[in-house]
Amino acid sequence: MKRNMLLLGLLVFALVLTGCRHREKPAAVSLAEEDPSAVAAKPENPAEEEPEAPQLPTMETSLDDYPLNTPTDDILVLVNKTHPVTRDYVADDLVTVVHCDPNVGNKDTKKMRKVAADAIEELIAGAKEDGYDIVMRTGYRSYDYQDYLFNSYAANYGEAEANTYSARPGQSEHQTGWCCDVGVLGVALTDFDYRPEAVWIADNCWKYGFILRYPADKTDITGYIYESWHIRYVGKDVAQYIYENGLTLEEYLGILD
Ligand SMILES: [Zn+2]
Repeated sequence: MKRNMLLLGLLVFALVLTGCRHREKPAAVSLAEEDPSAVAAKPENPAEEEPEAPQLPTMETSLDDYPLNTPTDDILVLVNKTHPVTRDYVADDLVTVVHCDPNVGNKDTKKMRKVAADAIEELIAGAKEDGYDIVMRTGYRSYDYQDYLFNSYAANYGEAEANTYSARPGQSEHQTGWCCDVGVLGVALTDFDYRPEAVWIADNCWKYGFILRYPADKTDITGYIYESWHIRYVGKDVAQYIYENGLTLEEYLGILD
C-alpha cells in the first residue's frame, strides 16, 4: 500500500511536470513561429538601425507644365520649376566677373548682370579679408547651355534624379544672370559643403546682397537639394530680411504655386 501510494505520487508529479512543460513554451519562440516579422522588426540594439536617408525634393515638372515667361528686369524676378523663362531671354547688361574659376564653363558662364557682378566682386574681396579664397564658378547660363547640362545629367542618372539638383532649360535661375555658384579653386563643387568657405558664405553673403537660394530645410519649397554654393543677388535690404527670417525667395515673395 505504501509502495502504491509512492507510485501514484510519482505519476502525479510526472503529469504535473509534463503539463508545465507545455505551458512553458517561451514567448519569444512563439512570436517567432507565428510572426517572424514581429521579431525581425525589433532590432536588439536601436543604435545599429540604419540612418534615415536624406530627404530629396519630389517636385518634378516637365517643360509643358508651365508657360514660359519673359522675365522683367526686376531684381526680385522669380525663376524656378513653376516659373520658367523663354528660350531667347538674355539680360542686356551681362558683364564678365574677374575673379572666376578659369577651368569651369565657358566665356558666357563667367558673366553676371552688372549690379550682381559688382556685388560678387565685393563678396570675394570681403571673404579674402577674412582669410577665405572664394571664386565665382558659374554665373549666367543660356537656355541652350542649360539644356545641354540637364540632358548630360539625365543621361547618366535619369531625369527624375537629375531634376533634384539640375534645372530643366528655362527653369534655371542662372539664365537671369542674377545668381552664381561659388567655390574654391581646385575643389569639386559637391565638396564645397564641407569647407569653411561654405560656412562663411552662409553666414556672410547677405551683407553683400546675396541669399543662399536652396537651403537644406526648404527643399519642398525650392524643389532642389541643399546647395551651399548657389547664391542669388536680391539687394542688401531684402537679403538681410530673408537671412534674418530664414526664408526662401518664394516665401518672401509669397509665390508658392
Ligand atoms: Zn547654381
